[in-house]
Amino acid sequence: MIEEILPNLFRIKIPLPKNPLGALNSYIIKDSRRNMIIDTGFAQDECKEAMRTGLEELGIDIQKTDFFITHMHPDHMGLALVIAPDTSKIYFNRIEADMLRSGFFLDEYTDFACQNGFPEKELQTLFNHPGFRSYKFAAKGLANFHIVNDGDIISISDYNFKCMQTPGHTRGHMCLYEADKKLLIAGDHILNDITATIQLWSDEQNPLRDYLTNLDKVYDLDIELTLPGHRSIITNCKERILELKDHHQKRLENIISILRNGDKNAFQIASQMSWDTNYESWDLFPGPQKWIATGEAIAHLKYLEEDKIQKERREKEAIYSLKKSKRIL
Ligand SMILES: [Zn+2]
Repeated sequence: MIEEILPNLFRIKIPLPKNPLGALNSYIIKDSRRNMIIDTGFAQDECKEAMRTGLEELGIDIQKTDFFITHMHPDHMGLALVIAPDTSKIYFNRIEADMLRSGFFLDEYTDFACQNGFPEKELQTLFNHPGFRSYKFAAKGLANFHIVNDGDIISISDYNFKCMQTPGHTRGHMCLYEADKKLLIAGDHILNDITATIQLWSDEQNPLRDYLTNLDKVYDLDIELTLPGHRSIITNCKERILELKDHHQKRLENIISILRNGDKNAFQIASQMSWDTNYESWDLFPGPQKWIATGEAIAHLKYLEEDKIQKERREKEAIYSLKKSKRIL
């Protein structure tokens, strides 16, 4: 399905089979010289076919088309690496281009996941999941990456997009802001109906702090229309940002109340948190859902470590507890 959202700016909904997200919003900007496609879908036949049909209907010549990818997740980037001709630029952020180049992937996660209580036997099945495997294949597109930095301008058709680095959902996530048109292309930074996952799988980052800071950064902008990477278009950006902040605040409170009942590792905490899901119990969560939930728990725990909780090593495990002074209150 194709919609014209603004002059020369179209949305093609790319189906994401067997994925709870349902579809990816691919935005197409049509221009007589070069077109641009923003986010693309998985490197899968169903996505490829939906894109092909949509582009054909719009009369877009892929040979005259560049790409902008908001972040490295395979539902945004995967298909671009398959369909982009060698002559196309793929605008992409430096942080994630470097991550893909260095091949950071799964082996490095294993130790960290085990320290946080993720069952080792579930990890191997998980890493064979297509969603994880697709990262390996991302390296194929590296040659075409055209690195953009925060503040860079991409001009196309009647649009002058400013690249805005908005890490949180991923380390290098970028939005595009068109100030004259009060338009934000938001990737997964701001979504309607659902919330983007904020996960952490290392000791070094604090993605939730980054995410909340970057929600504030967007809050200060003059925006009438927000075009997210999934689900419906957002016309009340400020209101939605406040809801997202509230969502994470509730999750932080949820963790604190769980820790009041005793010290735990991140996997145990995740198993007791409130999740918006149809599964009746934690044991019924599929592996990828447990992975996301545990990563979310770790991101929120890291944020709380600045103030309310502490992490200590007991043998090989990382155990979280409330800081003593707070426990009295
Ligand atoms: Zn994403």
